[in-house]
Amino acid sequence: MTTTFPFSYPNIYNNITSTKPHTHLTSPLSLLPNCTSLNEFKQIQAYSIKTHLQNDIFILSKFINLCTLNPNAAKMEYAHQLFDIISEPDIILFNYMARGYARSDTPLAAFLLFVRVLWVGIFPDYYTFPSLLKACAKGKGLDEGKQLHCFAVKYGLNDDIYVCPALINMYIECNDIGSGGLIFGRIVDPCVISYNAIISGYVRASEPNKALSMFRELQAKKLEPTYVTMLGVLSSCGLLGALDLGKWVHGYVKEHGFDQYVKVNTGLIDMYAKCGSLDDADSVFESMAFKDTPAWSAMIMTYALHGQGVRAISLFENMRKARVQPDGITFLGLINACNHAGWVEKGWKYFNSMRDEYGINPGIKHYGCLLDLLGRAGCLDEAYKFVEELPIKPTLLLWRTLLAACSSHGNVDMAERVIGRIFELDDSHSGDYVILSNMCARAGRLKDVIHLRKLMKDKRVAKLPGCSMIEVNNRVHEFFSGDGTHAEHRELHEALDMLFEKLKLVGYVPETSLVHYADMNEEEKEIALRYHSEKLAIAFGLINTPPGTAIRVVKNIRVCRDCHSAAKLISLISGRKIILRDVQRFHHFNSGKCSCGDYW
Ligand code: ZN
Ligand code: ZN
Repeated sequence: MTTTFPFSYPNIYNNITSTKPHTHLTSPLSLLPNCTSLNEFKQIQAYSIKTHLQNDIFILSKFINLCTLNPNAAKMEYAHQLFDIISEPDIILFNYMARGYARSDTPLAAFLLFVRVLWVGIFPDYYTFPSLLKACAKGKGLDEGKQLHCFAVKYGLNDDIYVCPALINMYIECNDIGSGGLIFGRIVDPCVISYNAIISGYVRASEPNKALSMFRELQAKKLEPTYVTMLGVLSSCGLLGALDLGKWVHGYVKEHGFDQYVKVNTGLIDMYAKCGSLDDADSVFESMAFKDTPAWSAMIMTYALHGQGVRAISLFENMRKARVQPDGITFLGLINACNHAGWVEKGWKYFNSMRDEYGINPGIKHYGCLLDLLGRAGCLDEAYKFVEELPIKPTLLLWRTLLAACSSHGNVDMAERVIGRIFELDDSHSGDYVILSNMCARAGRLKDVIHLRKLMKDKRVAKLPGCSMIEVNNRVHEFFSGDGTHAEHRELHEALDMLFEKLKLVGYVPETSLVHYADMNEEEKEIALRYHSEKLAIAFGLINTPPGTAIRVVKNIRVCRDCHSAAKLISLISGRKIILRDVQRFHHFNSGKCSCGDYW
């Protein structure tokens, strides 16, 4: 039997350790760069073994280079085996391996190899550090990262233009924003990559003002921002809820051509969603020529956040028609949408279909959202069972979601059970005590209220002060609950007092049961409620913006029941839309109603 091999053989008696390419133009080895699957690599390797080229360093390094470009677990294992064959690997080969691990699902495995490489006396170069630092960032290996930092200092590479941004990025990804900031501060002339790293760090640390001041500094130095910079700036606007600033950034994005990036457009949708402008988010989405999965997901999430369940679901149908594959965030948006609309059955349907139809495993956020949906609909027993039977250990956030549901439905008994579970994990969070003591107060169980207050005092649990922000005339104004000692607040207080007289005429009754200071009389309790931070911010907006302007307020904790009912009435008597974002969701107050349907 004769087999015709379609390729001519190279000279197999070449020196096998030569570093010259042996690839004849038509040899299978010349197909190497076109290989995409491991199977194809292996076929070519088989050929190299057959032709006695298995130890050829040139071919081996080609294999390793290609395997580590877009690695998966199998390709990395294969590359590692090849690396082990090489008796005297050099730093270039190791850099390929480090790059591969940094892009793989086992980034910190790069360090085992790095230790071996150092052991045989190979020195790292300035390509080694960025890859290894990326691996630390991905694997959240702060300790490894710090050791590398020392190493870089030892080798005099810590101020290198490639190493520096990688160091900042590593610290930031490992949530050590302070160290990232310190390194940034050391750079004499930071480049835009370093600015991008520090801006995204401040965004991650929820310090949008610092991020924006870095952006201004970058502009003052006449550096050209990249689309990554714009993503950080947009996130900052979203965190601040600063719509006017966001609109300015949108203009800047268009002017500089960043709107050609799908990611930037998605960032714009997210920013508008967080700043409470659904219409603007919608028009950005409509204007996008190409929409990828994150873009569709962001828009579905936006509708969900703003309580537009029907639109979220019809958008998902369009996404399917456009044959765009959904991801975990798409389903989070859908379950969220069902949550806001109170659709328990539909919520379950999407929750189940993500795994059964699309092969996406639900994460903690999906569990939390479905739990919230069950709680909101009053299915408290089903919700409790759901948490107990989760395949993971329930987190504090999940128990707190259930606690909030108990509070909404006034189920004190279950709330006590839930708080027991919460205290097993953490008993230092003021919000938990406050929710339960509010519930006990409403149920007339004053003894329990006093007991909880005492418990808080004994455990030195400090109450997180309520803080609300509002942007007026391009400045973000901050108000804390009870702010009132400053002279500048006198005018505001007078306006608030007048407003509350009017509110009482349309039926406002202050919920003084929410104030638990035994030594306060009813009138004092009423005053304490009146100066809650969100009321101060809303009143500030009313007197400092032209009639008809929507008022947008961002609050750091959940809005209390009293502020919620007051805001509804204020929207009625002032004819203003009030958009309040609290830590949980958006409340759109309009003509005496709220989009949340009084559940939050
Ligand atoms: Zn309040
Ligand atoms: Zn509401």
